[in-house]
Amino acid sequence: MIVSIPFHHTMYQADLTKPIIASYPLQSGNENPSAFHVPEPHFEPLSIGDFIGSKALGGSVNCDVLTIIPHGNGTHTECVGHIAKEPYFIADTFEHFHFIGSLITIKPLKTEYGDDIISEQMMRTCIEDTIAPQALMIRTLQYPNDGSKKIWSGNNPPYFTPEAMAYIVAKGIQHILTDLPSVDPEMDNGILAAHRAFWQYPFDTRTASTITEMMYFPEQLVDGLYMVSFHILRLMSDASPSTIVLYKLFQQNLL
Ligand SMILES: [Zn+2]
Repeated sequence: MIVSIPFHHTMYQADLTKPIIASYPLQSGNENPSAFHVPEPHFEPLSIGDFIGSKALGGSVNCDVLTIIPHGNGTHTECVGHIAKEPYFIADTFEHFHFIGSLITIKPLKTEYGDDIISEQMMRTCIEDTIAPQALMIRTLQYPNDGSKKIWSGNNPPYFTPEAMAYIVAKGIQHILTDLPSVDPEMDNGILAAHRAFWQYPFDTRTASTITEMMYFPEQLVDGLYMVSFHILRLMSDASPSTIVLYKLFQQNLL
């Protein structure tokens, strides 16, 4: 099934029968990427009175209770509700779910104080001369690129400078997606400077913008343009576990 998508005076096509899933599966136990030292996801059969939600244990159906922490258990999409005093919910954030996205691969820069950062200059080098996509996917390859879990907790992962984020905003990019566990440092005393710069909170809040963290970019994925499809739970919360589905974009007639 081929769809045609106009974008900046060019017609692109995508083949909906060739999805690329760019998220980790979310499963009970320790086979997930993890960050911020949060407990791992836990799924267990519902148990009420005589009822047990497990066929293996003699119940009539399987019925699990899921305990998850979206920000630390795997791929998730968050809205400004993550840093706002006011209630903003991921369920209310999207007016639609498909966007033109660009995937870029960069190696974070080692600073003299030992942190790895993504700077404004790096962003300029990558996207200054291009038409800004609606969604920018930033692959850093800081994890084993074979689908195995990544333990970020206590490892001081790379992060974006607020200036890099301000530049991304100035380019008009609505959604950021990255394989890093956060756009800010693991420990920053709650400043969250890059998150704030991205959402322009609280002075000019970008309520329709999202950040997706702990993406999984399959090894064969090449940099370039994709249709990005967001799949979230309709949660009245700041974030949701998410499945991001990509479709390679081709200029029309080149499919
Ligand atoms: Zn998060």
